Amino acid sequence: MNETYYAGLVIERVSLAIDKVFHYNIPDEIKDIIQVGMRVMVPFGHSNVPAYVYSLDKDIDIPLDKLKDIKKIIDPAPAFDADLIPLIDWIKEQYHCMLIEAIQCFVPPGTKVNLRAKTHRVIYLADNQEDVQASKVQRLNNNMKAILAALEDEDGIPAKELLANTGAAESTIKALVRRGLIKVELEPTYRNPWKYDLPRQELHEYNTEQKQAINTIVKIMQNGGGTVLLHGVTGSGKTEVYMAASEKAIEEGKQIIVLVPEISLTPQTLGRFKARFGDRVAVLHSRLSIGERYDEWKRIQRDEVDIVVGARSAVFAPLKRLGLIIIDESHEDSYKSDTRPRYHARDVAIKRCELVKGLVVLGSATPALDDYYKSLAGEYKLSTIKKRVENQSLPQVQIVDMRKELLMGNRTIFSSPLFTAISNNIENKEKTILLLNRRGYAQFVSCRSCGEAIKCNNCDISLTYHIQGRKLVCHYCGYEEQYPKTCPKCKSSYIKHFGLGTQKLEDEIKSFFPEAKVLRMDFDTTSRKGSHHEILEAFASGKYDILIGTQMVAKGLDFPEVTLVGVITADTSLNLPDYRSSEKTFQLITQVAGRAGRSHKPGNVIVQTYQPDHYSIILAAKHDYKGFYNKELAIRKQFDYPPFSHIIRVLLTGEREEELIAYAKDMLAWLNHKISKDPYLSHNLMDIGAYPAPIERIKNKYRWQILIRIRTSEESKHNYHLLAEKLLKQYNRDGINTALDFNPLSLM
Ligand code: ADP
Ligand code: ZN
Ligand code: ZN
Repeated sequence: MNETYYAGLVIERVSLAIDKVFHYNIPDEIKDIIQVGMRVMVPFGHSNVPAYVYSLDKDIDIPLDKLKDIKKIIDPAPAFDADLIPLIDWIKEQYHCMLIEAIQCFVPPGTKVNLRAKTHRVIYLADNQEDVQASKVQRLNNNMKAILAALEDEDGIPAKELLANTGAAESTIKALVRRGLIKVELEPTYRNPWKYDLPRQELHEYNTEQKQAINTIVKIMQNGGGTVLLHGVTGSGKTEVYMAASEKAIEEGKQIIVLVPEISLTPQTLGRFKARFGDRVAVLHSRLSIGERYDEWKRIQRDEVDIVVGARSAVFAPLKRLGLIIIDESHEDSYKSDTRPRYHARDVAIKRCELVKGLVVLGSATPALDDYYKSLAGEYKLSTIKKRVENQSLPQVQIVDMRKELLMGNRTIFSSPLFTAISNNIENKEKTILLLNRRGYAQFVSCRSCGEAIKCNNCDISLTYHIQGRKLVCHYCGYEEQYPKTCPKCKSSYIKHFGLGTQKLEDEIKSFFPEAKVLRMDFDTTSRKGSHHEILEAFASGKYDILIGTQMVAKGLDFPEVTLVGVITADTSLNLPDYRSSEKTFQLITQVAGRAGRSHKPGNVIVQTYQPDHYSIILAAKHDYKGFYNKELAIRKQFDYPPFSHIIRVLLTGEREEELIAYAKDMLAWLNHKISKDPYLSHNLMDIGAYPAPIERIKNKYRWQILIRIRTSEESKHNYHLLAEKLLKQYNRDGINTALDFNPLSLM
């Protein structure tokens, strides 16, 4: 650099007060090496702090005599690539986070704690071979000779291994080093996160539908990129399509990111990629140790891999030749971050690919409604696989009306058809999966005689039961009523709020089927690292009869021996106070049903419900995605829910309830005032209000939220993003946390 440049730096400290770019002088000695993305040390306030080089600018409008010098470069390898700056800016704007928070998505794991590569000692023969030869006449003991002999034909041997193989002691190594016969080098140890056996690699002849899907994907990949929605029924061989597309991308010198939902990150998808693409696959997810993640990240940065398989945050992986991002089970909510920045991996993937002319593939048997909507509107290309591989049929789904079970005097959690089916399966040594659908925490109230769940008059959303005061409350409009004594529809007094745990279910199974071997997979049993994998391995080993669990058993598992799937109560997610409850229920039942009958034996699915007439359940039982889509879209339109509106949520949390409520009301008034003064904002507003959040208190913090529904145009979103920026500047009181979310997936 001949001209004078200044470094625009972002200080590595999460603080709203310093959320901007600070300029520093670049001292002569680092002038030729400094790059965007490097981590440097700079004086800031009264101390020296780390910062990232965000820009190198020629003209700056601050007095030059005020500028301080960069102290030093911490790491000469840039933490992130300069090409990523536009994406970093986009994340900041979209998700209203601080610049440092956006940058931290892209830097190697463990940067803040100065994590380094782990090292180990490797022993080599000394460079000077003549001396080594000459040494043969010197007096060497047997251990020394053994070490030299072992090293003769090897390009270095790790010290541990060398000592173990020769039986020599540490002192022997020291003695040989002193004599200049060998040398010791510190080399990075690769903490390989892959600790499991690889599945056998299966090579299939692609069927016609798979070939079509592959062609569509490859064509778009070669023609400037875009987004493809791959809608393929469960067991239709989507993973094979992903692998074929990846192979093509690699041929063209491109790299690939494969995203899988966090908890179904099992050897099942990952293992298949490993088996096919070997060492050129890296793995990234939060269950790895920070050291393992660091090593994988570095391997990616050094360009040693073609494919990164990982959970949500792997969308930030530092690939330089990225050409394809595959999002498996793309309808899953786990792709949305619930901490800052509250990004959605799908949206980041689409933006990232737009910048490099890459291709995003969204794969699902039950695409998110808004993705399907976009594919029909032409924003994505739709590719469909209607049949399972090898013409296997989709499983038969039987809906059991639990109201009738009750009339017949059955008050247990198993209907008679499910009870019989489980008994038969145990007897025939076939495997069963039982799903306890228990999403979220809120409880709803429903009538066990007529099945009616008690809903809000204005919103078509179930009311939530609040223990305090025994109230039923609508979390969309604030409507509330007392817990009724009888059903408003049929006057039955058999009215009840719901909530059943997996532990309880396990106990029930043990008492009804004492001979059955039962495995449980839920939040409690999978919190330990590797436990998720162990449970699945145990089930795959064939030693167990029944796997019970929460929605995590529904996702992407491929156990050919499972012939029965039972859904204990489909209703729980149906009655959540959320406009997406029907969609989530449809997805869950379709997905869990898809676990059955994945080999030559046909599958049988039993869905227990108090609402057997609900369209989500009926259409899931028929495997009718299109039918569900049409019905649900009409409802969304009628009530102006997304994709016909755009929701903005401001979640406020604080320890003092009164202060919080006053704050929320003040914020609402401020917003209303701003909106009324601005014709763009008021034109695009559909409604706005402040309400207590469905979960009113978490960890002793009260929660309130402001919900804003706006029109979906780009102009509308843009204007409301600007308003949100102002809001965050205006409202940042200590003790109250403000979380802003455009397009929240949950309003809990
Ligand atoms: P999906 O991801 O759509 O649920 P998978 O890719 O897991 O489906 O495929 C289901 C099973 O079918 C896997 O065991 C896979 O090896 C097998 N499979 C995939 N494609 C074919 C094919 N063309 N012919 C036969 N079997 C196939
Ligand atoms: Zn009733
Ligand atoms: Zn309401």
